[in-house]
Amino acid sequence: MKIAVVGTGYVGLVTGTCFAETGNIVHCVDVDKEKVSKLKKGICPIYEPGLDVLLHRNIKENRIVFTTDLKLAVDKSDIIFLALPTPPGEDGSADLKYILEVAQKLATIITKYKIIVNKSTVPVGTADKVTAILAEKLPRELFDVVSNPEFLREGIAVDDFLKPDRVVIGTTSERAKTIMHELYQPFVRQGNPIYFMDERSAEMTKYVANSYLAMRISFMNEVANLCERTGANVDLVRIGIGSDSRIGKRFLFPGIGYGGSCFPKDVKALHYTAKANKYNFKLLDTVMQVNAQQKKILFQKIKKYYKNDLKGKQFAIWGLSFKPETDDIREAPSLELIQDLLDAEAKVSVYDPVAMGNVKKVFGSKVKYQKNQYEGLKNADALVIVTEWSEFRNPDYERMVKYLKSKVIFDGRNVYSLEKMEELGFYYNSIGRRTIH
Ligand code: NAD
Repeated sequence: MKIAVVGTGYVGLVTGTCFAETGNIVHCVDVDKEKVSKLKKGICPIYEPGLDVLLHRNIKENRIVFTTDLKLAVDKSDIIFLALPTPPGEDGSADLKYILEVAQKLATIITKYKIIVNKSTVPVGTADKVTAILAEKLPRELFDVVSNPEFLREGIAVDDFLKPDRVVIGTTSERAKTIMHELYQPFVRQGNPIYFMDERSAEMTKYVANSYLAMRISFMNEVANLCERTGANVDLVRIGIGSDSRIGKRFLFPGIGYGGSCFPKDVKALHYTAKANKYNFKLLDTVMQVNAQQKKILFQKIKKYYKNDLKGKQFAIWGLSFKPETDDIREAPSLELIQDLLDAEAKVSVYDPVAMGNVKKVFGSKVKYQKNQYEGLKNADALVIVTEWSEFRNPDYERMVKYLKSKVIFDGRNVYSLEKMEELGFYYNSIGRRTIH
């Protein structure tokens, strides 16, 4: 099939590359000239495991092309995916300006039947809005608008796209349904379902999925805080409840709050949708409040340990991205923690396998960037673990002990066992477990 993908960010680039991988001809469009010129040279602008290999292969086979020319891409395609940003507006609603602007342009470009597929996360009613914009200039038989929310996870996006748990397609057009069904067949060969539904239900499904997951995180963070106060160990509680098939093992890890480009904005947007429909979605209010509180928890632990005097203290931070295996730092807890430490006049040095370049754009020379995880420990008063990259799980403890000024660890991700920390004689303060003194 001939496909255009508008927006080549985390979602668009993975979508375009994976469609090319199954033999389709894909034109990827972006307004960011620098990004497009990098991609034309085969340089992947984001860190996403496995993506570069697929990208190179499909560029070589001429199945994926990059351009800034929307008209060219649309003229050469039958299906147009929109993978555009939908950032939160000031009131929490999803800002649809990118989607609606592109829809306006499409209305002036389309001359034969196309399917416009919304892959961005958009509020209920957006497919209708896009349809209305197109219908102002185009006869109705020249297009269908489909909602096809994306559920990929950064860090395992390629796998998620190639083998999705399910595909959700919102359309009431039989013509679009048949084509979308065919397009997705190579991705569901193991028997995973494609759910067809109306556009509004598909749009709602994405927000509900992310809000539910965010709620699980906030719930477990509250459980962790209660465990700390009662002497229970949240990791044992987590295992204890997770084997109940009604609950399930995944997404029960406590930590220092959810971040990333999706959960924070999607919970806000669903909350806004509820408000706009005169419904008070109380649970979502609490999910957001708990998360804001949890993002401060490491800083509070640190402040308490140093009796509010952080001036001149030196901290080594391990992990900056909002989760492992990505360079994405949007709404990452690390940013808030670094800012709080700097405001308290502490010195901060950081290490992350892939996200340091992005953090440098935020903090510049205010923090030190280390070439490996151990360098920042030299003379540091404490190590602070913010993101649970695998390489932090089994470190060279001898070097840690040798380099650190004091054997102090604040761990926001429960990376180490309490027994190990006790054996090594660390002060070890983690989440929802007793503190080792
Ligand atoms: P992103 O910011 O990484 O990428 C968006 C891209 O769109 C950028 O490259 C930007 O330059 C480009 N763009 C902006 N305006 C444009 C225009 N007029 N024409 C062409 N390109 C334009 O965003 P993302 O993380 O890929 O997210 C895109 C959408 O997918 C959002 O709605 C998001 O909520 C949703 N989503 C994201 C994820 C994720 O893990 N990142 C997962 C599922 C769904």
